[in-house]
Amino acid sequence: MTEAEQKSTPFIRSFATGMRYLKSFIKFLIPKNFRPTVLKIFYAIRSPLYLGNTVECPCCGGQFNTFLPFTGYHHTRKNAQCPRCGSLERHRLLWLFLKNKTDLFTKPAKLLHFAPELILQKKLRTIPGISYIGTDIDSPLADVKMDIHQIIYEEKTIDAIIIYHVLDHVKDDRLAMREMYRVLKPGGWAIIQSSVNMEQATTFEDPAAVTPKDKLRIYGQVDLARKYGRDFIDRLSETGFEVHAEQYGLELEPAEVAKYGVIRGEYIFYCLRTD
Ligand SMILES: [Zn+2]
Repeated sequence: MTEAEQKSTPFIRSFATGMRYLKSFIKFLIPKNFRPTVLKIFYAIRSPLYLGNTVECPCCGGQFNTFLPFTGYHHTRKNAQCPRCGSLERHRLLWLFLKNKTDLFTKPAKLLHFAPELILQKKLRTIPGISYIGTDIDSPLADVKMDIHQIIYEEKTIDAIIIYHVLDHVKDDRLAMREMYRVLKPGGWAIIQSSVNMEQATTFEDPAAVTPKDKLRIYGQVDLARKYGRDFIDRLSETGFEVHAEQYGLELEPAEVAKYGVIRGEYIFYCLRTD
């Protein structure tokens, strides 16, 4: 159980479970290919209700009186979701990091974005000089459908990779890491994000967890393949990456953390190919 889960009360966990079932029901009602459009319409309708000047979303530039609560798998977080674009804390921190700590806005690049999220995809496509490729095995947002275990691009042809919350779900994460390293150009970078429990030294994996029912029993979630500990960084390093575990929120002023609605201690794993 993560720290956040331990802190949540039985009521919050029950509420989160109810919201999860509600989301599943809505997903059941709306065919996958229509969901991005439905979400866009929903966000466009609700965002004017929250206009204000207390918080600002760096992803869409909107200013609001608050961010909205968001229900994740196990708990609900207050002040989490942008009313206009749907960005969460991690998306806003990533966007600030990309702008202030990487060369993405100053150097032409071929960018591979795994499991693209609607808001990030829209913004990344608009950066001048960026050749953007959204990819996924199945998502309607993917420009190219492929399996991360077998990336279709030639080696050393990609300048930058963004991948959020994929590796804890895939069958062979080390192979996926090797594939990403293979296609990156020397000097290229990848932001490889997963849920990592930094309080835990080693990653928990159970080969017996095969079916969704097994996974729910063993990991508490139907689609997980592992729960990462600090050795997530070792796995990336063994692949060849020079890994920088950045807590970029700590570099921001407290007023900026509040304004942009980011989690101060959140890690961003910025991985360089340096050969
Ligand atoms: Zn936004």
